[in-house]
Amino acid sequence: MVIISENKKNTHRGYIKTQFRYSMTYVVITFVVLLILNIYCSDVSQRLFYQSKSASMIEKCLLASDEIATLDVMTSSAVTSTVEQMESLKITRLIVTDQSCRVLYDSSGTAADTYALLPEILTAMEVNEDTPTGNDVFISRYYDGVLDSRAATPIVYYGTVVGCVYMTEYDTAQGALIASLQVTVLRITFLLELVVILFSLAFSNAFSRRLNKIMTSMRIIQQGDYTHKVTMGGNDELTILGNEFNDLTERLQTSEQKRSRFVSDASHELKTPLASIKLLADSILQYDMDLATVREFVEDISSEAERLNRMTEKLLSLTRAEGMSSDESEIIPMAPTVQRVARMLRQNAIKAQVSIRLELEQDCPVLILEDDLYQIVFNLMENGIKYNVPGGSLTVRLYRDEENAYLEVSDTGMGIPEDAVDHIFERFYRVDKARSRATGGSGLGLAIVRTIVQRNRGEIRIASKVGSGTTFTVVFPAFDTEVDS
Ligand code: ADP
Repeated sequence: MVIISENKKNTHRGYIKTQFRYSMTYVVITFVVLLILNIYCSDVSQRLFYQSKSASMIEKCLLASDEIATLDVMTSSAVTSTVEQMESLKITRLIVTDQSCRVLYDSSGTAADTYALLPEILTAMEVNEDTPTGNDVFISRYYDGVLDSRAATPIVYYGTVVGCVYMTEYDTAQGALIASLQVTVLRITFLLELVVILFSLAFSNAFSRRLNKIMTSMRIIQQGDYTHKVTMGGNDELTILGNEFNDLTERLQTSEQKRSRFVSDASHELKTPLASIKLLADSILQYDMDLATVREFVEDISSEAERLNRMTEKLLSLTRAEGMSSDESEIIPMAPTVQRVARMLRQNAIKAQVSIRLELEQDCPVLILEDDLYQIVFNLMENGIKYNVPGGSLTVRLYRDEENAYLEVSDTGMGIPEDAVDHIFERFYRVDKARSRATGGSGLGLAIVRTIVQRNRGEIRIASKVGSGTTFTVVFPAFDTEVDS
């Protein structure tokens, strides 16, 4: 069971803030956009109302102006009787003035015989080069549910402005229409905003829940439970993240398993020589021995210590081989390294009564660190001598084809049983433990070879027959370079 501490849970805080910030950003953005749309809609609808109102009022004014312009004399009574005959002029207020702004007719009756110096009337009668017959004026305002509109047109008699028709209208019906339209648009805006807020909350919640799943899994893995898997569901980036996370965990699990197996194998292997040393030392201490026997025991201790030393060295070189990169590799020919190793192992070969044969094509350059190549050739040739039979031979061949360069180490030794071939590259694996120990084997040589070969983009193959010998072939990508020069 994995316990997640409260402290750890607090690491969520930053994320919740981020989540809140993101959803608030969406909400604010959509709110601003909706507000702008709202203002724009209200403005457009108001302008449409104004336009239709302007058209209808100017038309009415012109109708009255035209009718009044037909009068011979523009007296108050003549204007009154003309205007009152016109059914379409039943509006809030209508004023007719003469050229000097004197009111000839006022539908409300309050301004009769006064001077109506209203700005709309003055503008309507204003004459200049561009407007020799005055102007049609329309002004409209919307406030408190009322559309307050004013219109004025000049009365033109044979090209001369002789008066003005001015009318006002307080349209509560259209005002109410504008008000209700504005309220409706506002309601829709708030409704949409509410929907946006709800969706944003729902989405960010779902997102956060999915993300939390991954974060919780991460903490479980952190606590060491590498078997844990996260199940994301869905089909989005978070699903991919979950899958990647599971892959990573699997790799971690494998490497953790390898590591602990390595540690247990290594300690097991180191335990044997240590136990022997202790046993030998105890024997010397406990029993009365003559000097010759003591010397014999001490020699055994020394050789066990030597074995320990060799094993730790190999372990170190394996760890190094696993951790190193091949960044500093160079293109080098393989032949000189093989010759150097053969010289090094000559004494071992003589001792084991094994003859060494070299068949080396000179043009076999590969991209590798010299030390790496040395290690590969040394381990393979050393095994070829170690696991050979007296009178046997070890042949090393170098050759290449278009794509690859080959290093072939072939012996006439005891061979490797079929069922052991698959395990031969495993750390600490030995076919014949007793014989391998006797020859100073640690079971690490081939593991080191394989690690180095793979690190250098190579491949190692093995062909073996019990009783007749073993052939190891290392294949590297070949390089066509001027290394020969
Ligand atoms: P060791 O240090 O024991 O030689 P290696 O990893 O080099 O470890 O080899 C693993 C085992 O494979 C050896 O213990 C030996 O049993 C077997 N082996 C390796 N090379 C040969 C060979 N050329 N002929 C026969 N057996 C071999």
